[in-house]
Amino acid sequence: MSQITPALWSEILGHLRDRHDGLAQGWFSQLDPPVLERGELTVSTPDPQQHRYLLERCRRAFAEAGQLAVNRLVSVRFRLAEPVEQPSGRAGAPISDEPPPLNKLYTFEQFVTGPCNRMAHAAAVAVAEAPGQAYNPLFLHGSVGLGKTHLLQAACQRALEAGKVERVLYLSCESFTNDFINAVQRGALNSFQYRYRHVDMLVIDDIQFLGERERSQEEFFHTFNTLYQMQKQIILSADSPPTAIPSLEERLVSRFGWGLVALMEKPCFETRMAILRQKAELRGLELDDEVVYFIASRVDSNIRELEGAINKVESLARLAGGTITLALARQGLGEQPPAREIAIPEIQEAVMRRYNVRLADLQSRKRSKSISLPRQVCMYLARQLTRHSLEEIGGFFGGRDHTTVLHATKTIGQQRQSDTKLHAALEEISGELRNLRSN
Ligand code: ADP
Ligand code: MG
Repeated sequence: MSQITPALWSEILGHLRDRHDGLAQGWFSQLDPPVLERGELTVSTPDPQQHRYLLERCRRAFAEAGQLAVNRLVSVRFRLAEPVEQPSGRAGAPISDEPPPLNKLYTFEQFVTGPCNRMAHAAAVAVAEAPGQAYNPLFLHGSVGLGKTHLLQAACQRALEAGKVERVLYLSCESFTNDFINAVQRGALNSFQYRYRHVDMLVIDDIQFLGERERSQEEFFHTFNTLYQMQKQIILSADSPPTAIPSLEERLVSRFGWGLVALMEKPCFETRMAILRQKAELRGLELDDEVVYFIASRVDSNIRELEGAINKVESLARLAGGTITLALARQGLGEQPPAREIAIPEIQEAVMRRYNVRLADLQSRKRSKSISLPRQVCMYLARQLTRHSLEEIGGFFGGRDHTTVLHATKTIGQQRQSDTKLHAALEEISGELRNLRSN
């Protein structure tokens, strides 16, 4: 066992700073140079907070930097050393890397249900309350930001709280494969297998990444079988159903479907509103209905984006030192204030100039082409450029009924396809009106 040279250590630190700006911390350079033994770099710190930071965020970065410096594959272990000041003669007992702790906010209580996620939610509750019995495995899939991780962690916490399980292992697929690769390199496969096969509940997030790893798939296959036979609960999540995960072995595809495969979809409008209200309440934010309505109608991709929108609006409100108004919400979501609407009289004026007709003509019942064409153009543009209904538009043309307006819009819409002159005229008039509006 040998400590690496200070020169090598500072080279590693250099790589970390250069390649992981934002991750590298000032205190890195105060750590003792790590020990390198049989391809494993052991980084020690007596500070639990530093240790946690390293464990949670730095494994890959340290492994990369270590590899660059020593020019061969290294794995990394972070060890919590006993504080040096302690008058204890013992060497710090190594504490093995623990999986990241569960997020306290990811509970069932804080999960808003709607048609998009009701089935996934109910299934997660069911397996948390009867692990190994309800559905095994439970496989949740859906695109990013729709609450898969939240439900997985909620199931873990509920099962633990209810005393249904003792040993729960929640981790990302990436951690699983890294752990496996490390174990192989260290010749520590037995303890790896022991660790994964002696749990009551194994929960792996983003399992789609397993497809890329042939040997990890093999290992996971055996882990799965062992746990399944012992009726231990397995919960998995992915961005697609098992059958659509690239390069996933057939025997895993079929096993993943043995229990329940539940899809999580994008939340509908009402669910988005409910989620916004809940998130606002959690932060002690007061959001008017119109603000909630506005955000829910503009952000419809996923729930992470909804949270991002609240964050932006909240920080803007804080800067402005006040309440969250609709204008602030618009600004937060990067919207321009609404431009002034184009008014029908403006359209009529533009058309009158262009076709040299009078308002009385537009409002008359005259059917000559020279009058009916500009009248129909007016109606068409009113339909295109304003939000007035057919009836309302009719009202501006001597009280014509909605079928007349509809007929006009259809006629002009069709004619412009073949009549290039008409098409050009329509473009010009609309351009003119839009300019008018933005000034
Ligand atoms: P995924 O794992 O599917 O990418 P996450 O579970 O990370 O999505 O969810 C993204 C964010 O949205 C998290 O902060 C989560 O708490 C929140 N979230 C997702 N679904 C809901 C929901 N139904 N109710 C409340 N918050 C939710
Ligand atoms: Mg996730």
